[in-house]
Amino acid sequence: MQLPVLDRLILKSKKPSRYAGGELNAVHKDLAKARVTWALAFPDTYEVGMSNVGFRLLYHALNERPDVACERLFMPWTDMEAALRAECQPLFSIESRAPLKAFDIAGFTLQFELCYTTVLAMLELGGVALFTKDRTRDDPLILGGGPCTYNPEPIADFFDAFVIGEGEEVVHEISDAVAAWKKTRSSRQDLLWLLAEIPGVYVPSLFRVHYNPDRTIARYEPLKPGYESIVRRVIPDLNLVPQAEKPIVPFMQTIHDRLPLEIQRGCTRGCRFCQVGMITRPTRQRDPNEVRKIAEKGLETTGYEEVGFLSLSAGDYSCIDGVLEDFFDEFGPENVGISLPSLRTETMSPHLAEQIKRVRKSGFTVAPEAATERMRRVINKGNAEKDLLHAVDTIFEAGWDLVKFYFMIGLPSECDEDVKAIVQLSAEALRRGRKKNSRAEINVGISTFCPKPFTPFQWDPMISYAETQRRQGLLRDELRKLGRGFKDLHVKPHDARQGALEGALALGDRRLSSAVLHAYRCGQRLDGWTEHFRLEVWHDAFAICEKEHGVGLEFFAHREKGEHEILPFEHIDCEVTKPYLWKERKKSLTEGATADCAYGDEYCTACGACDYEVVDTIVYHPSDYRKQHVDKPELPKERTLLRMRYAKEGVAIALSHLETMTALLRTFRRAKLSIPHSQGFHPKPKVSFGPACPVGTESRAEYLDVEL
Ligand code: SF4
Repeated sequence: MQLPVLDRLILKSKKPSRYAGGELNAVHKDLAKARVTWALAFPDTYEVGMSNVGFRLLYHALNERPDVACERLFMPWTDMEAALRAECQPLFSIESRAPLKAFDIAGFTLQFELCYTTVLAMLELGGVALFTKDRTRDDPLILGGGPCTYNPEPIADFFDAFVIGEGEEVVHEISDAVAAWKKTRSSRQDLLWLLAEIPGVYVPSLFRVHYNPDRTIARYEPLKPGYESIVRRVIPDLNLVPQAEKPIVPFMQTIHDRLPLEIQRGCTRGCRFCQVGMITRPTRQRDPNEVRKIAEKGLETTGYEEVGFLSLSAGDYSCIDGVLEDFFDEFGPENVGISLPSLRTETMSPHLAEQIKRVRKSGFTVAPEAATERMRRVINKGNAEKDLLHAVDTIFEAGWDLVKFYFMIGLPSECDEDVKAIVQLSAEALRRGRKKNSRAEINVGISTFCPKPFTPFQWDPMISYAETQRRQGLLRDELRKLGRGFKDLHVKPHDARQGALEGALALGDRRLSSAVLHAYRCGQRLDGWTEHFRLEVWHDAFAICEKEHGVGLEFFAHREKGEHEILPFEHIDCEVTKPYLWKERKKSLTEGATADCAYGDEYCTACGACDYEVVDTIVYHPSDYRKQHVDKPELPKERTLLRMRYAKEGVAIALSHLETMTALLRTFRRAKLSIPHSQGFHPKPKVSFGPACPVGTESRAEYLDVEL
């Protein structure tokens, strides 16, 4: 039988489950009947995009509306891209396999700067003109959202509009504006003017940029009267952010393969290098009494075996102890785990460690960021060395074998001693850890600091590639000095090649669009994947920009900016004010501390993020959490061994054996079947599957054995 062309391409691809669709809880609507259609586009592969909590939230929030249909698109891997081009097939959505061009709106999630060439690849594969000026009324509206929109200038020429800030509310206003415009005969330009009326929507083509003779920016001239600056959108209360009752469950193993549950948004610790901390202020916690209810519901409708409690630092969530205790009492016997993606060292307590180790004993990550007390004062990372060492002691004592550290080099005012101290501190932590656990091991990840917009370090230059290499050499020398007794200390500096580019794209202006375009034209896409990143192509691309505009890598990434220089994102208002950021920068030079404002009005330093009426800090007290009664599930006294027969057909033929097994195990969980688990650090369900059925093959007689 001849398969439809896309089915054939999908089954021939390296990982068919990236494209096959049909996942549990995916929403299928008739695009022709919707008032507005959205393509949520993620400029990376499926497994990366489906791990993004914001992307998933928007998908369900948009599909909640009966008049809106929203589908997902991802960047295909290179084999699939080549196949699509060879067969003249456009980039298609997962749900209905509609081409990108068929949607009213394409909303791209811009998570990090190195995704820009991938956006261009997706537009071109989808049959959409790359430049906003070349698009017609029939083209989708190309929107960008996510952290990169705080300085979207390097890609301003390619996008019709950007959403600045949190998107959960504004997407509905945009849907309404597009629906109203579709009914008229107005031009695309009229739509852009309409969108510019919506708070938080930035239409770059409605600004003209003027430059000084020294090539810095002189001013942004708004072409629409009164459209001077774009203030970010913020959701005042996280409890108002709808959590999907039935979250989508990918077949493919995604990067974060678990039920995502956002427990806190914003962080006001005030780390001076941290963009996400500044742009998501103030701290807003979810009601702890809701957290478990949402987790319960989500587990019931997905069958996931792990919940990710998401926040910038899970240990800062004030009710974490109570919530975890009840969670493990209820779900521990069912072997449901919790993942706390990030913890600050000073929030690690023996009690917290005890809670977490009830189901999880994989590596534990702590992020000291800098290794000397001086450097940590510069960046306002309030953790003292004793906190770090104490946290590591606690973790090893609680039974973990592996701790992962995360540091940066190249922070402003860093000297060689600060760099060497990274190895010395890690070695000391290992020395102490071994006294608690003889199998103690420490992995140390070290990246190069990249200044970001809307941080106190936005004026600082980034260290050069050569300097990064020199400092990485210092680390290696220091490690060598430790000698053989430290083979369990693994120091791994990150690939330094991408750093300066990321810095330039983060701090650059519209003139960089020529570099992005050139890199794309020379074959770059999926730049975040080391196997696809080619430094020489990007260097050529920046050289072309330098030739055209007289500005390049050096100008954007490695030059110190003055206090009064107009920065490329001057017309974007993240509400944390420029004078505040400058004051924080000056404070860093004197190693001054700024307190976390989350725990009392008296600590507010008036950064500008709160209006104290609608937007203000929301932090719960541990006593706000009402301990919840837990009905411990009764385990069966007797079990019967069953042999089950199942069919693998339809979309399931695109699944690998491992994906099929995971899908079936999650089905058993949803059906509340009690399956015994193995003992040990990583308990596994005791189910025996028959031999693998090859991908692309239908079968009506697959078997598994399970004790019920
Ligand atoms: S305005 Fe005050 S309370 Fe609000 S985030 Fe800024 S420093 Fe914190």
